[in-house]
Amino acid sequence: MADLVNLVSQNVKAVRQRITSACDRVGRDPSTVRLVGVSKTFPIKHVMAAVDAGVTDLGENRVQEAEEKIALATHLTGITWHLIGHLQSNKARRAISTMTWIQSVDSLDLLHRLERSAKEKGTSAQLLLQVDLAREVTKHGASADVIHQLLTAGADCHALQIRGLMVLPPWSTDPEQSRPYFRQLRRLRDQLIDTGVDQTMLGELSMGMSHDFDVAIEEGATMIRVGRAIFGRRSSN
Ligand SMILES: *Cc1c(COP(=O)(O)O)cnc(C)c1O
Repeated sequence: MADLVNLVSQNVKAVRQRITSACDRVGRDPSTVRLVGVSKTFPIKHVMAAVDAGVTDLGENRVQEAEEKIALATHLTGITWHLIGHLQSNKARRAISTMTWIQSVDSLDLLHRLERSAKEKGTSAQLLLQVDLAREVTKHGASADVIHQLLTAGADCHALQIRGLMVLPPWSTDPEQSRPYFRQLRRLRDQLIDTGVDQTMLGELSMGMSHDFDVAIEEGATMIRVGRAIFGRRSSN
């Protein structure tokens, strides 16, 4: 256990150094990059080690797994949970009950269900719209057209707040392969602001994972989603 705490703490330190270096390269303030530790597939003791090391934002990609960990983590205060994986509409209500941020909104049906559930529960949630830039059949995410519709519909939501965009580029071991996607996401955000979309709905760009978050920060990421670089290798997923 002490070993795990040490390992995770060293890893978090190394990640923070990479964040600072990337920010230095492009003249950004490191405090403008929010680190989301992705604890999917890792048990609660890993979550606790990360919180010990100062990580306050945690990401899970399945509602069920998030619910289980949140139930075990009630004694940890000041944690913000993010859903980063695909969300089926029929799980909208459960996601609203457990997550503060939902980063994977990609359809009007899902948005409407989330708004309805949040209203019924008298709660709120921060949303990111997941953009499909690669047009991969297997991937989730909304096309640019649907993003427009979501932003229009989102402006009329009362319980929910759309806060920005998220992208998950096609997997490659070479981080430079991700750069064009990160750049495209930032350009899309800038274009949307130019066409009059309220800036408060587009403040966040969630992009970059363990192997490519340096590049994402250079391209403007405000949230990075980091699993393996903090927790080590996953046996699945
Ligand atoms: C798993 C996952 C991550 C983290 O990936 P690592 O390679 O472990 O850093 C980030 N974003 C999403 C959407 C994921 O599913």
